[in-house]
Formats: sequence, structure tokens, C-alpha cells
Amino acid sequence: MIKQRTIQRSVQTSGVGLHNGEKVTMTLKPAEVDQGIVFRRVDQNKINEVKVSPDAVKDTKMCSAIGQDTSRVATVEHLMSALSATGIDNIIIELNGSEVPIMDGSSIPFIYLLQTARIKEQDAAKKFVLIKDVIEVKDKDKWARFEPYDGFKVDFTIDFPHPVFDASTNKVALDFYDESYITEISRARTFGFMQEVEYLRSHGLARGGSLDNAIVLDEYKIINTDGLRYNDEFVRHKILDAVGDLYMLGYAIIGNFKAYKSGHELNNKLLLALLSDKKCWSLITLDSQDPKTSNLATRYTNSKNGILNQEMAGVYQ
Ligand SMILES: [Zn+2]
Repeated sequence: MIKQRTIQRSVQTSGVGLHNGEKVTMTLKPAEVDQGIVFRRVDQNKINEVKVSPDAVKDTKMCSAIGQDTSRVATVEHLMSALSATGIDNIIIELNGSEVPIMDGSSIPFIYLLQTARIKEQDAAKKFVLIKDVIEVKDKDKWARFEPYDGFKVDFTIDFPHPVFDASTNKVALDFYDESYITEISRARTFGFMQEVEYLRSHGLARGGSLDNAIVLDEYKIINTDGLRYNDEFVRHKILDAVGDLYMLGYAIIGNFKAYKSGHELNNKLLLALLSDKKCWSLITLDSQDPKTSNLATRYTNSKNGILNQEMAGVYQ
């Protein structure tokens, strides 16, 4: 039986919010079976909590924000992406501010933090959302879609009218049961365009953004002097974002996510469309002793991330 996971011990980090520019301390704490992923604001008179779910997403402008007013937490997607990759089902995330720290703009600092906390398997079956039928959402020429697939595949294409982007680096497809999220995706940083910075800042966004936590492009080129971490880092970051956005379900997905120019808003719309169409999915558990799910259970356990998770859980000590 594939089991639910939390962390073994509390860990803490601090940084600045990408959008509000404020310093924030974040503490990750173990949680009980079936508790899910819970964000907790501890900077107010009353402690405010919001549990991750597609309905909890209230704002998708330049980041994914959950909760409202006093419970609001912005820029959750890179941390959510790291939680998805490490297979963590239950965790409490305490923040003394309204935004998850941006760190270096990728999810690798969160992976390191989770490695420090160590993964703990719990005595309950992990639940997966199995995609049973095709479902798609569109917005003009942009689209995002789920298809049935024996694994977890993300197939993403971007297209920006800018000289740095070209067809050879605009598309990446990865099956995370065969390839490592840590190696292939986790170091890809967020990116932004110089021309948009003034506008964003006047709307209270990108105030913490800098060359230390984002790839910045002017009209012609990348400004960061140390260049890119992957030659197709932009589309890999869009995959990092999508993995985080899709984990708002609170469950790992068994299926193929395909997207063209999608973003936080469309990713969330796809989740809401999926949940409202019961014939397209079911909630399942995986067990190597069950003939119906043994293949997937074995693939999951032997996947690069599965192996990493076991190393992190101390299984291979
Ligand atoms: Zn991002």
C-alpha cells in the first residue's frame, strides 16, 4: 500500500515575498493523517487557517493565492510544487505574513528544506485522483487538458513574442514516474519582463522581485549576467508552476496534463471543471497486492521521485 506522508520534524526558513516585498518567516510542521495541506497565518490576533483545495484559490494574478482577507496567503505555487514532488499529503505551513517567501524563484530551496525535515510515512493509504476521461478548458488560444494516462505526465508548451524564446526551447514533456522532478524541474526560476515591472509595482506586485529571485528580460535579452540554469528554463518553470497549481487538489494525479500557454488561472479552472464532472475522475489508492493497481503502485514506488522519497524517509539508510 502506498502510504500518506508528512514530515518528521518542524523546520523553519525566512525570506521576502515576491509581490509584497516583506520579510516573512515560514515554519513547516508535521500534520495528522487526512489533515491535508494547511496554511496558517500566525501574525494576527486570531490564528487563521486555510486548507488547500481548488475552491480555496481566490486570486490568480501573477501567482496563486489562497484564502481571503485575514487568511490570505499568496505565491503558494512553488512550495506546493515541492510538496507534490516529495509526495507530502499532510503538513501545516505557518507564516507570519501574507506571502510564501520567494527564495531563489525556484522550488529547490523548499526541496532542501523538506529534506532537512525528513519525510515520514503515515499509517493510512495515500489517495490519488485518477483521470478517467478527457477534460479541457480554453481561453482564446490558450488551453489546458487532462487525459487518462498510467503515470503523472506534464506536457507544456509556451509561446512568447520575444527574441529569447524559440520553438526549440518552448516545449517540454516529462513523465514524473520515469524522470526526476528534482533534476529536471526544481531549479527552474520564475521570470518576468522589464517592461511589466513598473506596471506590476504600481499595482502592489513584484515589489520583492530582483535578479536574485527571477530571470528578467528586457526587450531583447536576459539581463541576469549568469544566464540560465536550463536552456529551456522558462517552460520548465511553467511546469514547476503547473505541478504546484495542480496539487491544489490536495491529491497526487494519475493522468496526463497537457497545456498550451496556460497559467495559474487556467490551471485552476481545469481543476474546478474536473471536480464538477464526476465521470472524469475517481479517488483511488494504490496497492502492490491489488491486481487492479499493482502496476501503478510498483511504478510509483520505483519512480525517481518515489526512490528519492524513500531515501528522504530513511528507508535506504
Ligand atoms: Zn512560478
